[in-house]
Amino acid sequence: MLTEPLPRTLDVRKAAVRGARVSGVLKPLDLQRFRSLLASDEGRVEVVLDFSKDEEDRYLAHVVVDADVRVTCQRCLEEMTRHVACDNTLAVVLSDAQAAALPRHLDPLLLEDQVCALWPLVEDELILALPPFSYHDSDTCRESIAAFNTPPPEEPGDDRPNPFEVLAQLKAGENNQE
Ligand SMILES: [Zn+2]
Repeated sequence: MLTEPLPRTLDVRKAAVRGARVSGVLKPLDLQRFRSLLASDEGRVEVVLDFSKDEEDRYLAHVVVDADVRVTCQRCLEEMTRHVACDNTLAVVLSDAQAAALPRHLDPLLLEDQVCALWPLVEDELILALPPFSYHDSDTCRESIAAFNTPPPEEPGDDRPNPFEVLAQLKAGENNQE
């Protein structure tokens, strides 16, 4: 089990040449954009990054993230633990044009400096991997258990007067006047 925090920065190109592996743990509070999508500060994000060069001399970062975080169930609005995982390979690019030229199985990692900030990289992957809505399983969600135990509401009765009856009463009234 990983215990050390993930380094904040890394020279990705040097790491790729060495074939280095960098790993570590982050907390939701370390990733404020991601934290804003969660229900609490509790949680744990494990990251393993493997750097390499491919046959086209691209610098690659294989990113594997496993996270357990707290989100809000959109059915009962209680907190729940959600596992978020991603496994993605990024290729270092220096421009949007290079990014556009990448093959489909590679996502761009736009590098503006020699040194790459690793935390935002992990954060972007987590934000993409987090489903927009989370729900408990139906047998553990308070809302669906309540719905199961409560009989369905009766059909509301139709209290509006039948227009034909109203017409008949009017006719009866006219007849009585004659
Ligand atoms: Zn629920």
